[in-house]
Amino acid sequence: MADKRDYYEVLGVSRSATDDELKKAYRKLAKQYHPDTNPDNAEAESKFKEASEAYAVLSDADKRRQYDQFGHAAFEGGAGGAGGFDFSGMDMGDIFGDFFGDLFGGGRSSRRNGPMQGANLRTSVRITFEEAVFGTEKELDLNLKDECSSCHGSGAKHGTSSETCKKCGGKGQVVFTQQSLFGMVRNVQTCPDCRGSGKIIKDKCPDCRGEGYVTSRKRIKVSIPAGIDNGQSVRIRGKGEPGTNGGPRGDLLVNIDVSRHPIFQRQDYDIFSTVPISYGTAALGGDIRIKTVDGDVIYNVKSGTQTDTKVRLRDKGVPSLRNKNVRGDHYVTLVVQVPTSLTSEQKDLLRKFDEALNGKSEEKTSNDKEKGKKKFWK
Ligand SMILES: [Zn+2]
Ligand SMILES: [Zn+2]
Repeated sequence: MADKRDYYEVLGVSRSATDDELKKAYRKLAKQYHPDTNPDNAEAESKFKEASEAYAVLSDADKRRQYDQFGHAAFEGGAGGAGGFDFSGMDMGDIFGDFFGDLFGGGRSSRRNGPMQGANLRTSVRITFEEAVFGTEKELDLNLKDECSSCHGSGAKHGTSSETCKKCGGKGQVVFTQQSLFGMVRNVQTCPDCRGSGKIIKDKCPDCRGEGYVTSRKRIKVSIPAGIDNGQSVRIRGKGEPGTNGGPRGDLLVNIDVSRHPIFQRQDYDIFSTVPISYGTAALGGDIRIKTVDGDVIYNVKSGTQTDTKVRLRDKGVPSLRNKNVRGDHYVTLVVQVPTSLTSEQKDLLRKFDEALNGKSEEKTSNDKEKGKKKFWK
């Protein structure tokens, strides 16, 4: 380790360099020596690692302090350093994932030539309230890409091959640095020359016109589980975009859009509805029909039921997504209807009824008061 270069020297900055200066210096070196830009170049790779190591230490205030005090000894296990800092077995791509994610987009640039999973596709399907409650199966017609069988996804005509894009060096993305009010801002953009593929195809495959994939209309069955709610999605593995370089396909994410129900509302696994009852039924009691997702149920309203009385119908709610044998409840609000547009005969009856009721109720009220008093003074 004696021949190890000074970190400041590696980055070409002074010992008093600011974080910004360090970053700038490192970025420049990283771009210059990045393995993607210099495939199979051992010297560039070691330069890249050297710069990355120097930056990792100096960009961390604690480590920089240790380095300033102890030099390389700070990270050589034991001596002086609080916790060794061994780079040898580390994957630089992981350590600097964020940085390169920023620099080259996606943080995957070093793996561009390896198998990569295809992108996920998103679509949505509208289902009824009941379908969401009990589950359903839907068929979707989608345009899906498949790897072109003639060129196996390369996009190059049979017997020819593609070249690495010169503009982006095969990374598929280019970085622009712009001066803004907030300082230097880097923008990562899809390479305009290769449209992100990192490759330039001279002789295009005639079957896919150089795209590397062919699109066809496919019917996909989606099984939607009982209990699903509006805005949730169903994942269908392997029905997304095809992978590259032998990677697996992405997934298809189907967003579930549940139509509003004219009567039922849902909250989590409970269903809510409002049922009107007549004045007579409320006063005298009687059987009423209540609509539930399982069909009508007969419910016996107790005499003297007040408006806004809540009734709970157990297990008439939505089945749980995790266990469809567990269901929520259905809450019904009974609303007493005050009759309108009465005939004169009905009005007369109602007046008589009211008079009778008032006489009685006065008596009753006073009785209640007496009772109340008794109770109160007891
Ligand atoms: Zn093709
Ligand atoms: Zn390019």
